[in-house]
Amino acid sequence: MPFTSPQGFEPAVAAPMQAGEAHWFIFKGDRLLVALGPPSPQPSDDPRVPARPSWASLPGSETLQKNNNILWFEPARTLYLGRLAGTDCWAAEAPADASAPPPGLAWEGLRTLFSVLEDAHFALAGRAIQLLDWDRSHRYCGRCGTPTEAKPEERARACPACKLAVYPRISPAVMALVRREGEILLGRSPHFPPGMYSALAGFVEPGETLEQCLAREVEEEVGVRVSRIRYFASQPWPFPNSLMIAFVCDWESGEIRPQAGEIEDANWFKVLHLPKLPSRISIARRLIDAAVQEMREGT
Ligand SMILES: [Zn+2]
Repeated sequence: MPFTSPQGFEPAVAAPMQAGEAHWFIFKGDRLLVALGPPSPQPSDDPRVPARPSWASLPGSETLQKNNNILWFEPARTLYLGRLAGTDCWAAEAPADASAPPPGLAWEGLRTLFSVLEDAHFALAGRAIQLLDWDRSHRYCGRCGTPTEAKPEERARACPACKLAVYPRISPAVMALVRREGEILLGRSPHFPPGMYSALAGFVEPGETLEQCLAREVEEEVGVRVSRIRYFASQPWPFPNSLMIAFVCDWESGEIRPQAGEIEDANWFKVLHLPKLPSRISIARRLIDAAVQEMREGT
């Protein structure tokens, strides 16, 4: 599953004593610094990606070095991520006014890099962008306004005045695929690309179980009640800091009534006649594909 922690990755907070060969995940805004091949003749399966390169790779350390500095600009922040198969991994944020990258390198969005950049690097890029965003957003204590300090031994920032500690924030969101005889319920939110439908999803509220969240979201969004909620899988989702937890469930009662402002349209789709679906970058597509295959096989 895209964005899940890769095999052979050991997260760590304390930077190594000696600088050696390293993977650098350098972001400017939400775009990663990569070396890019020529445009690919094969389009992306993501309607949000108009064109994609034939290949992409993290910049080699030789292209990052200038005057014995690792980067050609002063990073706004750097974070040590850990080791991938023994190689140190770093995240860095370029300032908004960083000059253009050296020839052969470019800033590129993560969606464009899906299935183009090596999977392990893609997953760590998703981790890096979330940690950079968290670090940037917690420079000051949310309780008393004092500048916070990074804790050396764990991924946290602490306030020296009131001792409040903040950890990287993850927002759990539940995804629900509702099925009934030969059909699945899909909806589209107003910000989806034209024609695309997906499973329903919503954020967990304080005090809710995942199952309660699912039942509430489905009823709010389409006015349908469900039963037999079964866990499918989960996926870290860095747009911006979610954990998607996906379930399949059965329709119990109610006619579809899309929630104004949230759901532009929702329908029952026969598993042999599906609309345009999300990219395989997301768990939504894997959830739909798995359920549809199961239903086609009659289980
Ligand atoms: Zn404080």
